[in-house]
Amino acid sequence: MALRMTLDALMAIEPLLSDEERAARDATRAWVNERFRPQLTEAHRQGEFPKALIPELAELGVFGANLQGYGCAGMSNVGYGLVLQELERGDSGLRSMCSVQGALVMFPILTFGNEAQRQRYLPGLAAGTLMGCFGLTEPTAGSDPGSMKTTARKDGDHYILDGIKAWITDSPIADLAVVWAKVEDEGQLIRGFIVERGTPGFSTPEVEGKFSLRASPTGEIHLTDCRVPAANLLPGTGGLKSPLLCLTQARFGIGWGVIGAAQDCFETALAYGLERRQFNRPLASFQLYQAELTEMATQITNAQLLALHYGRLKDQGRLVPEQVSLLKRNNVRMARDIARNARALLGGIGITDAYPAIRHMMNLESVYTYEGTHEIHTLAVARALTGIAAFE
Ligand SMILES: Cc1cc2nc3c(=O)[nH]c(=O)nc-3n(C[C@H](O)[C@H](O)[C@H](O)COP(=O)(O)OP(=O)(O)OC[C@H]3O[C@@H](n4cnc5c(N)ncnc54)[C@H](O)[C@@H]3O)c2cc1C
Repeated sequence: MALRMTLDALMAIEPLLSDEERAARDATRAWVNERFRPQLTEAHRQGEFPKALIPELAELGVFGANLQGYGCAGMSNVGYGLVLQELERGDSGLRSMCSVQGALVMFPILTFGNEAQRQRYLPGLAAGTLMGCFGLTEPTAGSDPGSMKTTARKDGDHYILDGIKAWITDSPIADLAVVWAKVEDEGQLIRGFIVERGTPGFSTPEVEGKFSLRASPTGEIHLTDCRVPAANLLPGTGGLKSPLLCLTQARFGIGWGVIGAAQDCFETALAYGLERRQFNRPLASFQLYQAELTEMATQITNAQLLALHYGRLKDQGRLVPEQVSLLKRNNVRMARDIARNARALLGGIGITDAYPAIRHMMNLESVYTYEGTHEIHTLAVARALTGIAAFE
């Protein structure tokens, strides 16, 4: 048998990473293998995230890992991407929790909040003693969040919020929500509010019956005459561009994370093909099986290099939203295709949770849709290429 080469060796990105980036990646990979994977099958079957692990995740520095100060790890964007990649090698739900906490809750508080808000929330969010969620989508406002119906009305030193937010990652377990609403007294300007659990008129019913991201709680946010102190308005927010800036942060992380899911599927299909014999030979000795593995390795390498290049651009402050759309769109589609193909290479047993491929496959359906659907990112890139907006 010829000498084997690992996918890591084929991609050869090690020399392009700093010691800190490699250390963060390796620590996260070890934690996922030792602490998360043993609980994962049961968590997925039960449809519950193992919440007892949250302090350990915080200890790893994954919440707001690329943010500075307030207890955040202050990693480079490449280091942050690698961390998310390792989390999603475990499960997209685990990575989703970290994306929401860092990019959609901590980032807006850091960027649009005042110093009192930062001091009040960020250290607890970094330490995992506070968990947050991000409420933008509504039952009738998905790809078109500007059509949201949630309103905020000033009433003395409070705002009164009314509306329903749908499909909110972690809302059932969150201690606070960053909620977006149209402010009636400001010409329907979209602004962000921090709403703490326990505020009268705030509830978070869970979405039932999910086949995807089962280890990640998803719920609604109901706001009914919900009186929020005016001090909880994020003062720097104004217009749809504010939540979109947060989504750009999160989508960058998704573009990295899904590579981990794809790698897990590739490694699974490779190991299975070397072990499983049919026609008196390992499956991996057949040319059709080999062609699939080569295609997977090629697509993963392409996705990894794209993420790394854009990660370095982001570290230099030069990454633009159109590039993030291209990254999210390409890499999620890549991972989704690989998960489905890996499932097929496993044959019948591939439809069970004895192997991770079908769980990744189902998870990636959500990732394909959330944070801007594949189609919307197609149109966003095309808008940049043509100068013509097909969806506004
Ligand atoms: C598991 C999960 C977790 C989520 N977490 C969050 C969260 O934490 N916070 C949050 O705010 N939201 C969250 N979302 C919501 C998510 O961002 C939306 O589902 C997504 O934006 C799509 O909206 P929609 O589901 O209403 O689909 P729609 O917008 O109704 O789209 C349906 C289909 O039509 C297509 N489509 C729509 N408009 C166009 C167009 N102009 N041209 C071509 N095709 C079009 C879409 O691509 C899609 O295929 C989550 C969703 C899921 C599934």
